[in-house]
Amino acid sequence: MAQKHVGYHVLPEHYPYVAKALLGAIAEVMGEAVNDEVLAAWGEAYWFLAGLLQEREHGIREAIEAVDGGWNGWRAFEIAERTVESAVITSFVLRPKDGGKVLPHKPGQYLTLRLTTPDQGEIRRNYTISNAPNETAYRISVKREEGGQGGSRFLHDVARVGTTIQLTPPSGDFFLPQAQERPVVLLSGGVGLTPMVSMLETIADKHPELETAFVHGALDGASHAMDGHVRALAKAHGKTSVATFYAQPAANDEAGRTHDHDGLITVDWLKANTPFETADFFLCGPRPFLKAFVGGLSRAGVASERIHFEFFGPADEALAV
Ligand SMILES: Cc1cc2nc3c(=O)[nH]c(=O)nc-3n(C[C@H](O)[C@H](O)[C@H](O)COP(=O)(O)OP(=O)(O)OC[C@H]3O[C@@H](n4cnc5c(N)ncnc54)[C@H](O)[C@@H]3O)c2cc1C
Repeated sequence: MAQKHVGYHVLPEHYPYVAKALLGAIAEVMGEAVNDEVLAAWGEAYWFLAGLLQEREHGIREAIEAVDGGWNGWRAFEIAERTVESAVITSFVLRPKDGGKVLPHKPGQYLTLRLTTPDQGEIRRNYTISNAPNETAYRISVKREEGGQGGSRFLHDVARVGTTIQLTPPSGDFFLPQAQERPVVLLSGGVGLTPMVSMLETIADKHPELETAFVHGALDGASHAMDGHVRALAKAHGKTSVATFYAQPAANDEAGRTHDHDGLITVDWLKANTPFETADFFLCGPRPFLKAFVGGLSRAGVASERIHFEFFGPADEALAV
């Protein structure tokens, strides 16, 4: 939660607003069942937790600012490159407008973007960094979503090379550790491949001996992004296997040519084709995907400390029924 707050640039002066809204809501919902004493106890509990969070957030901000390329709060970046990766996913390379360095992220971390959209005004959205840590630029790869407030539609349809976007520094605690020793399985569905591509670029560059399996599920060939890049990285690395699954192959998709397998990834397939007994599993994908694999891997005997996952929505909703 502290990482999320730093990403959204939540500051100590914002906490009283939440306290007022929360205590007000408790009083309204509970009605006569709540008295001043109970409300005061809730207030005390809130401010106790707020104190812990503020301390942690202060520590994270200080640590980020202390690193070369680090910054605090919003910083102006511009879109330096734009690459269409598939029918639904486009990548954007973001460089600081001040010409300075960027803070090297941990592979798997995300940025928070402040976007000014024509319909909704200012909105904030998280996007995982899809390139390896470096000092000059971040790349994000964004799926265009129909409906909603239109952060992704703004990036796809309105933003151009040269458009300015405000960013807070990379955050998040889903990342490939620098000293990764166990083999890794990078398991993704759809646009959930973004942290995996950042991790794979890092592995290809910094972990020549790390046994790696990149396993990806896409809908079909038209929506499948970054396949050429992933296969080139795997080839250069030499210890990475790649397997792709299409859930609904189109007429011009053909297993063995455009992708490896028809259908969905299964735990049984992972057992037979990845270093299942020893690997760390990094997972990212839509909710049904995460529910299937977090539960499935665990039932198949993978210890919880070997299962790491990211969800592109509120964390507490990832495994909700
Ligand atoms: C840590 C993290 C990392 C992420 N990384 C990436 C990434 O690398 N690439 C990427 O493409 N995305 C990523 N996301 C998702 C991204 O932040 C946005 O959520 C996504 O782009 C959609 O934003 P939007 O403004 O276009 O649509 P939103 O306004 O967020 O709407 C998204 C969808 O939800 C539906 N919706 C919205 N509100 C409601 C409602 N009240 N009831 C029912 N349905 C509703 C909309 O119709 C739409 O289909 C990440 C999210 C997180 C939390």
